[in-house]
Amino acid sequence: MKTLRLHDTPADIALAARLLREGETVAFPTETVYGLGADARQEAAVRQIFAAKGRPADNPLIVHIAGVEMLPEIASEIPEIAVRLAEVFFPGPLTMVLPKRQDIPDVTSGGLGTVGIRMPSHPVARALLREAGCPVAAPSANRSGKPSPTTAAHVLDDMDGRIAAVLDGGSCEGGVESTVIRFMDAETIHILRPGLISAEMLRPYAARVIIDKAVYEQLPDGARAASPGMKYKHYAPQAKLLPVDAPDFAQFSEWVQAHAAAGDWCLLFDADPEVTGIPSLRYGDTGEEQAHLLFRRFRELDEAGAKTVYVRMPQRSGAALSVYNRLMRAAGFEVITL
Ligand code: AMP
Ligand code: MG
Repeated sequence: MKTLRLHDTPADIALAARLLREGETVAFPTETVYGLGADARQEAAVRQIFAAKGRPADNPLIVHIAGVEMLPEIASEIPEIAVRLAEVFFPGPLTMVLPKRQDIPDVTSGGLGTVGIRMPSHPVARALLREAGCPVAAPSANRSGKPSPTTAAHVLDDMDGRIAAVLDGGSCEGGVESTVIRFMDAETIHILRPGLISAEMLRPYAARVIIDKAVYEQLPDGARAASPGMKYKHYAPQAKLLPVDAPDFAQFSEWVQAHAAAGDWCLLFDADPEVTGIPSLRYGDTGEEQAHLLFRRFRELDEAGAKTVYVRMPQRSGAALSVYNRLMRAAGFEVITL
């Protein structure tokens, strides 16, 4: 298959939209990373996403919509709390899991009776979704296990010859994947995967916000994940990551000094001084900055050939919880607690 390179022009967006309607796969930019899209209602098209990525069939896709009015085309039931949240957080990095309509095929939802729905805010994604007129299932446009792509060139590194087209909308802001939530009852939000839309931001709109245990801990072998993606290993750098939970920088530094060997690195907050003699990268003071930089830093550590990386632990609240979760998954949930 020859992969078309399309650009952010009305004619190319129209062509990309036509390809989607015709059952082809098209990679496009979103505010998080590049997604690999297909018409969520066409089973054969959705299968091509799984084939191109090498994604396990039980890992459900998120369906992207152009506007809130498309919700009833995908979900069979839309509770009032979902409408309230959509008013506040759409478009943006929030995915709501709702009961799925019969005409959304099982391949799209990884065999589940529910489906994750999100409305992205990136202008090129919005224009494409509007023009396509169909709901678009889209995971990140990388081969499974590889880092998520934030440029069209990254997409082509993994997908050239495997997908119909890539719509180049420049570099994405990057960052962690969307917050995934479901509703346990009319007033209870259950966070399945933390993201930039934090528990604290959701709290004013529900009586209760509960965070899934799998956000903090490794699932026992064979356990059923409320959110199937949480059981798969996330992209991690080649280096061994060692999150060090230290009360302050001085204790972190002292411990690292005592344990580090040649080839080891530190991943620090912006405000931390250097650990003497050990190369380091910084990944931001706020949860938002950390979310933005974490995967970029992972790639840079790979390029530097880092062996072990001692990481200052992010907070377990706000947007930083999403960073904590991705870091812990990349580190296999092993922490050094001082
Ligand atoms: P991504 O890997 O960013 O494409 O996001 C897909 C992830 O969203 C999956 O791996 C699941 O963790 C979650 N997800 C999508 N649909 C559902 C669903 N119906 N129920 C629970 N989690 C879902
Ligand atoms: Mg992905």
